[in-house]
Amino acid sequence: TTVPITSTPVVFKAADYRSDLKPIWCPGCGDFGVLAAIQQALVALQINPKDLAVVSGIGCSSRLPGFLQAYGLHTVHGRALPAAVGLKTARPDLTVMAVGGDGDFFSIGLGHLPHAARRDLDITVIVMDNAIYGLTKGQTSPTSPRGHVTKSTPYGQSAQPLHPLAIVLASGASFVARGFSSQPKQLAELIKAGLEHRGFAFIHVLSPCVTFYDTYKLYKELVYNLPADHDPSDLDAAMHYAVESDRLPLGIFYRRPPLESLPGPTPKPFDTQAYLNRFRV
Ligand code: SF4
Ligand code: MG
Repeated sequence: TTVPITSTPVVFKAADYRSDLKPIWCPGCGDFGVLAAIQQALVALQINPKDLAVVSGIGCSSRLPGFLQAYGLHTVHGRALPAAVGLKTARPDLTVMAVGGDGDFFSIGLGHLPHAARRDLDITVIVMDNAIYGLTKGQTSPTSPRGHVTKSTPYGQSAQPLHPLAIVLASGASFVARGFSSQPKQLAELIKAGLEHRGFAFIHVLSPCVTFYDTYKLYKELVYNLPADHDPSDLDAAMHYAVESDRLPLGIFYRRPPLESLPGPTPKPFDTQAYLNRFRV
């Protein structure tokens, strides 16, 4: 689909955010629901595809930028966040999203997550968590449950799963939410809220892998919406829900104004041109 770039206002429909590439995910993969929810959120916000950049690492879910009509950056394993932070720093005018899976963000790329969160740049991060390595055919990931038997853990996973939401909350993310790929309407609302938020927005998505670890039935039993009286500005309450594991709350856990709008000392804005000039001869 070619989007006309004109000076007159264009009304973007879902099809305008669809690339010519057809997703090659297994039929039933949760990532289809995430892609649809992202497109719905983009329609709702009428973001011009030419103003959008989607950065990913490596994994089944990291193929997503190829299926979206936008600028895409398919980087190396675990490095979506450093690339997204660099891109947003150099081009603050772009809407920047970083997408990928639990292996990418919570295993090889975990070192980048707290630092991107504490920078609190205006980036929307969507992690499609299937609690398994799908692309490499079904090894345990950092969110697989204790005791989980896979090819890489034939006697059962001995470690306990980490709590991604607790990690980003403790690191300073200003927007933290969780959705479920089987509930794309709610997920689209969360992604829209994340895109509207002007700081680091982290959206954890339960996105089952039908081929190597089908958790649809399990998640349908475990998910519930955060109570209506949950106050998203309450970090303690958000943390309480973030470490819950016998059930899986969905919704906006935490939201506060982005770092740059808070009182306190602020660094000077980065001057890209002055920086580049240093290398000119
Ligand atoms: Fe989706 Fe799993 Fe298939 Fe990968 S292997 S496309 S995660 S269902
Ligand atoms: Mg995975």
